[in-house]
Amino acid sequence: MKELEDRIRKDGIVKAGGVLKVDAFLNHQCDTQLFDHMGAEWARLFADAPINKILTIEASGIGLACMASRHFGNAPVVFAKKAQSINLDGEQYSTTIYSFTKQREFPVIVGRRFLSEGDHVLILDDFLANGCALEGLISICESAGATVEGIGIAIEKGFQSGGDKLRQRGYHLESLARIVSMDDETGQIEFA
Ligand code: 5GP
Repeated sequence: MKELEDRIRKDGIVKAGGVLKVDAFLNHQCDTQLFDHMGAEWARLFADAPINKILTIEASGIGLACMASRHFGNAPVVFAKKAQSINLDGEQYSTTIYSFTKQREFPVIVGRRFLSEGDHVLILDDFLANGCALEGLISICESAGATVEGIGIAIEKGFQSGGDKLRQRGYHLESLARIVSMDDETGQIEFA
């Protein structure tokens, strides 16, 4: 998506360790008009899928998913919560996710009443790196018996392995910007 790529070139900051900072428009200050256009693009890309629910993870996915919902017939947005510990009271689906940016594992939960068999889910997130966050969200859908209709990502870092692994497993994955390389010394970013 050219608009997103242009914005990444303009305001994205390449950090050491393969990290891209996009807090000027995506995950601290939010450009809601850009989010709206991204939602429209995902709706076009997933037009054939019978999506009735959007699943994301707090915090950065929430704004994107809520704007996108407007383009999916106001499908409810459910976000996985990062929990202090997994409460085994049976009312939640839970899993553990390794965080690329924080470099540690943390538990995430989704209330059982918000996801169930019969749901056709679009998973959305801001970044795809090694795929751990998405693996966690997929496993929560599996626990619920829900169908993953597709995965929409704002920025895929194609030089990390997550996207290829998920495509090989047959998921319909659409990234609006796919970075093939970036250099923290020159600030140069190359898209697929
Ligand atoms: P993964 O689980 O695919 O390894 O990493 C995805 C998650 O890590 C995303 O939810 C995002 O929050 C975070 N993340 C991964 N890479 C980056 C990055 O380059 N920049 C930022 N801001 N977040 C990232």
